[in-house]
Amino acid sequence: MSLKEKTMAVKKRVVVVGGGVGGTTVAKKLEQDADVTLIDPKEYYEVPFAQLRCIVEPKFAERTLIKHSDYLKTARHVQSAAESVSGSEVITASGDRVPFDFLVITTGTTFNGPSTRAERLKMFEAEKKKLSGANTVLIIGGGPVGVELAGEIATDFPEKKITLVHSGDRLIEYLGKKASQKALKWLRNKKVEVILNDRYVGSYSYFGNLVRRTLAICFQLWFS
Ligand SMILES: Cc1cc2nc3c(=O)[nH]c(=O)nc-3n(C[C@H](O)[C@H](O)[C@H](O)COP(=O)(O)OP(=O)(O)OC[C@H]3O[C@@H](n4cnc5c(N)ncnc54)[C@H](O)[C@@H]3O)c2cc1C
Repeated sequence: MSLKEKTMAVKKRVVVVGGGVGGTTVAKKLEQDADVTLIDPKEYYEVPFAQLRCIVEPKFAERTLIKHSDYLKTARHVQSAAESVSGSEVITASGDRVPFDFLVITTGTTFNGPSTRAERLKMFEAEKKKLSGANTVLIIGGGPVGVELAGEIATDFPEKKITLVHSGDRLIEYLGKKASQKALKWLRNKKVEVILNDRYVGSYSYFGNLVRRTLAICFQLWFS
């Protein structure tokens, strides 16, 4: 047995399920002191906060989609979804049985991205292409994602007619009123039409003739 193998043999086995924000942080922090295995169906970590910028600037995603193998030094990556936990091991969709002393579950939200980084980069390119071809943009929901997305598009595509519809009486309601007012003022200065106290009801005809070619971007996670 090599020295490295002997050292690993006495280390606790930590299995981290989910390679998002939480899981990658735990795996990276513990890999020096424990025998870490990260289980994630994707080969890469995606910085979620950068997603909206990547829609208008797909090249930005080159920096925000990071292969697990590029930042993990000693931790292993098992590229599969965890299906069940039995006693002291995790069983994956690909049939691996991964034993653990400690198990960390960080499977987060339900966004199902493609399994490879190259496919994800292509998705951003495709979204940018759709966006570039649209005359008008309809964004449903004035929470943090809707507001940020409207801001990103207004900055990079000032010529497009952007409409943001929000059912509440102010944007990003979970923040204070001052933040809502600032966001509203900023968007209106950028010529974004912000419709408050109204709701998208399932048909684009709701907007009458206003919208001829509309790109509706719905992030179901945030918009309800
Ligand atoms: C566009 C956008 C902008 C955001 N902006 C902010 C912000 O500004 N500030 C903020 O605090 N938060 C923001 N968030 C929210 C933040 O991204 C989430 O709170 C955070 O990602 C949650 O981290 P997590 O590790 O719990 O889950 P996630 O980051 O969602 O990661 C879950 C991981 O689990 C994996 N997984 C799922 N099922 C399985 C399985 N069965 N087996 C193995 N792996 C599995 C997935 O592949 C994924 O890699 C934003 C989110 C989005 C989408």
